[in-house]
Amino acid sequence: MSTNAAAPSNFIRAIIDEDLASGKRSGVVTRFPPEPNGYLHIGHAKSICLNFGLARDYGGRCHLRFDDTNPEKEELEYIRSIKEDVRWLGFDWGEHEYYASDYFEQLYEFAVELIKQGKAYVCHLTNEEMREYRGTLTEPGKDSPYRDRSVEENLELFEKMRRGEFGEGECVLRAKIDMASPNVVMRDPVLYRIKKMEHHRTGDKWVIYPMYDFTHCLSDAIENITHSICTLEFENNRPLYEWILEQVYPEPHPQQIEFARLNLSYTVMSKRKLLDLINRGVIDAWDDPRLPTISGLRRRGYTPAAIRDFCDRIGVAKTNSMVDMALLEHCLREDLNQNAERRLAVLRPLKVVIENYPEGEVEYLEAQNNPQDPDAGTRLVPFSREIYIEREDFMEDPPKKFFRLAPGREVRLRFAYFITCTDVIKDAEGNIVEIRATYDPETKGGSAPDGRKVKGTLHWVSAEHSVPAEVRLYDHLFTVEDPNEGDIMDNVNPNSLEILTDARVEVNLADVEVGEKFQFERQGYFCVDPDSTPERLVFNRTVSLRDTWSKVKGN
Ligand code: ATP
Ligand code: MG
Repeated sequence: MSTNAAAPSNFIRAIIDEDLASGKRSGVVTRFPPEPNGYLHIGHAKSICLNFGLARDYGGRCHLRFDDTNPEKEELEYIRSIKEDVRWLGFDWGEHEYYASDYFEQLYEFAVELIKQGKAYVCHLTNEEMREYRGTLTEPGKDSPYRDRSVEENLELFEKMRRGEFGEGECVLRAKIDMASPNVVMRDPVLYRIKKMEHHRTGDKWVIYPMYDFTHCLSDAIENITHSICTLEFENNRPLYEWILEQVYPEPHPQQIEFARLNLSYTVMSKRKLLDLINRGVIDAWDDPRLPTISGLRRRGYTPAAIRDFCDRIGVAKTNSMVDMALLEHCLREDLNQNAERRLAVLRPLKVVIENYPEGEVEYLEAQNNPQDPDAGTRLVPFSREIYIEREDFMEDPPKKFFRLAPGREVRLRFAYFITCTDVIKDAEGNIVEIRATYDPETKGGSAPDGRKVKGTLHWVSAEHSVPAEVRLYDHLFTVEDPNEGDIMDNVNPNSLEILTDARVEVNLADVEVGEKFQFERQGYFCVDPDSTPERLVFNRTVSLRDTWSKVKGN
């Protein structure tokens, strides 16, 4: 086994290195174990990159295991989306696709084994009673009156539970560990509960379902997982994980290792909260481009490479912290700056008529596709007498520092000519509706033979030769860094989406495909939305050009 020198070292790799060096392990098998009760988000991406990354770097393998023990919430649509998202991120589980529900029979046998050892019992306390008996963090719990039943009686009762002879909530199977343990998790935890509910994979075969803590460690063991990596909140569950395996499973046991979950500013990640936002109509669906879901990020225009880069940079730690959303955006800009071709698009058009340019004439000007990538070549952009520029690039009465177009002012049109504003046309209400200008034919390509300079360079499109488009601009979904502080609904940003319906984009964008990404010069990076139709293109602004992370943090 060799480690990948390029991979950043961390405490998990240190543990694995030691296990391999000492001979405790001869290889690495990890797993990514989503519960199919929602779509994956950027936090899951961290776990995916970590688990699949370790398997890749140590020449091992990573399983995709659906932790589908709760029949209430699981849906096939979630399973489909999870597989799509993991693949899209660039990872492959090969033939190692598993479902905890496939182990129900084996898990049942392990429970029977625990009962036979006198280490599990059927308990009839109500939920409320059980809570009272459990004690608190500072006081020990009390033994259940059902705790000392005989093995025979427990076997019989557990069998009856399986046969459906008890109603929901009438009884549970509990581990018999220690009601006085300082760790509340170890106070005779529930292993099985009754749920008379169909399961999406096992149908009506089962009316009892194993709890997460019982299922997870045994599923890991059954699959020969070597290192079971989970988030910090499971630290207190580790003794139970180990206890269960010690009772019923031969060594070597998988080792649970906890790391800090990812929290990202200005957003929420819990699937429950995301679903709540959908149900309340704040957003439409799991793939809303404002969400931190993988499908939302994909629709927004994020690339798998940018997300993987982000996960590498944040690394793994032992303490929870909040990561700045600006870092995620920074990783994306770095990728798109290298790889996205440039195009001209006017988001809020203002017409300019170039009066000395011949009517009906059109010329095709050469434009560079990507200054970062010499291989990207050039394209031809049509120029004509009537063009659109950005409304905000013109001011009738500009302040001193405004270097764009204004009456009498000369500017450069990107890849084209210098133009000078000669007149401003207004409607009856005094709104500016059109600009009149002249161009200097000597400045083709953007420089003047007499060496005179202009301060502003504007993007533009030919009026006749451009294509209409809808453009969706996004802002953070929440107005505060941590939306969980206070009522989350009070923190929703009412201006997180702005839709521009009369944008005009250069004709070379006419036949783009959904998911294609471009830099619209001076406006940011944009991605073709699935809502696009042959009649109407829809673009999402992925991210603006201004990189707040490198500027503010001095990175
Ligand atoms: P959520 O709380 O968002 O609903 P979850 O933890 O319930 O997430 P699971 O489907 O159980 O979601 O998670 C699958 C795996 O992803 C687990 O191993 C979990 O530790 C990991 N994971 C979930 N959220 C994060 C996060 N924010 N950062 C890192 N790993 C995460
Ligand atoms: Mg969970």
